[in-house]
Amino acid sequence: MVPEANPRVGQLTTQWQRGKDKIAAALISLVLIVGVVAQAGFAWQVHLNGEEIGVVKDKASLVALIEARTHEVEADKGYEVGLASQVEFRKIVSFSSDDAEAVKETLSEGLEFGLKATAIIVNGTEVAALATLEEAEGLLEQLKSRFIKTSSNLEVEAVRFREDVELEETYCRVEDIVDKDAALNVLLHGSEKLLQHTVARGESLWTIAFKYQLGVSSLKAANPNIKPEVLPIGSKLSLKLDEPFVRVEVVEKQTYNKSIPFATTYTTDSSLWTWDSKVKVAGKAGAQQVTARIVSVNGKEEKRDILSTQITASPTTQVVARGTKTAPSLSTGTFLWPTTGVITSPYGMRWGAMHSGVDIGAPKGTAIKAADSGMVTFSGWNGGYGYMVKIDHGNGTSTLYAHSSKLLVSQSSVVEKGQVIALVGSTGNSYGAHLHFEVHLNGKQVNPLNYFR
Ligand SMILES: [Zn+2]
Repeated sequence: MVPEANPRVGQLTTQWQRGKDKIAAALISLVLIVGVVAQAGFAWQVHLNGEEIGVVKDKASLVALIEARTHEVEADKGYEVGLASQVEFRKIVSFSSDDAEAVKETLSEGLEFGLKATAIIVNGTEVAALATLEEAEGLLEQLKSRFIKTSSNLEVEAVRFREDVELEETYCRVEDIVDKDAALNVLLHGSEKLLQHTVARGESLWTIAFKYQLGVSSLKAANPNIKPEVLPIGSKLSLKLDEPFVRVEVVEKQTYNKSIPFATTYTTDSSLWTWDSKVKVAGKAGAQQVTARIVSVNGKEEKRDILSTQITASPTTQVVARGTKTAPSLSTGTFLWPTTGVITSPYGMRWGAMHSGVDIGAPKGTAIKAADSGMVTFSGWNGGYGYMVKIDHGNGTSTLYAHSSKLLVSQSSVVEKGQVIALVGSTGNSYGAHLHFEVHLNGKQVNPLNYFR
């Protein structure tokens, strides 16, 4: 059977034809739209570290800006850097955009750069980061050599860090990189280590400062709110202490010369007065060569072990002869008042101390006379006594005349009772011109007034 011609076929064909035309028209308009959008509707949404900073048409100039800034930082720092900030360009459909210069400026200001640096790790803590491994290695060497002394008489046996010091590759921002000098300073002086002190009974800012070897001013600076005069017991003070991160231990063997002091022995000489002595054999220091192992930490000696000593020159013992010849008794039995004046301070306790003589007030230059005949055992400067004369009268009695302005007799000379031996003055430990007069009996000070009745 021959199928009948379907009248709907023509209809369908026409419909399809019309649909095809529609699709074509739609496609054409789509192409047109895409073309228009492609030409004018796309823009770049710029994100800096995940945050949108604007929309621009020209991506290339921003990329160029990033490159230029990178080169600028590299030229300034002297090493290669990379972009540490996250910059993202998202393509979006947009017919408008932001002010290109403003976006550029925001991007430029927000850009951060970083690099693969070398961190110095001390006991597991990163204390500084340097730009290159060479620089970090150089720094550690410099730190060690800082405490090495070079001398022909010493041999360095070991140089090491007391702490565990390591170098580690790290990625960090350009701002966190320090130069060698700054890193050296940090390693040597540390960061400020904060400690606390609880005030105990009887403590003051000064005793606490002393305890921690701090200056009172730095303690005050660390605790601006305290009143130094009133430190309540139990209150807490912060102490900022300088603590190095690393300690360089240097062990060295050193050979050096050390002198051996001489000893002194005494002998007697009957031709010398008892107040005289004479060096019979001059002492001479000896010498020895010492070899020691010295351990020092950051330049401060911690331990010294003597390994050997070799005496290269023995010391010579000094021999001193002491006189045994006693002064002849020249005393007349009575004393003469030694100067013209009145007693301004008697013998005895004075201001809680013993006043071992009598003070006779007299103008400077007044004659001082020997209280009795005798031999001068001392004439010269004697500390707090100033210029003084001492006379031995024999039989265990002596007199002493202090604070003179001028001495007129010499040691071992014989003086007559009443002879002018010195002039009143105020030398030594004295306030105002006066004569300090003492009487000694068998080496002990006695009240001079006992001799004047
Ligand atoms: Zn006196």
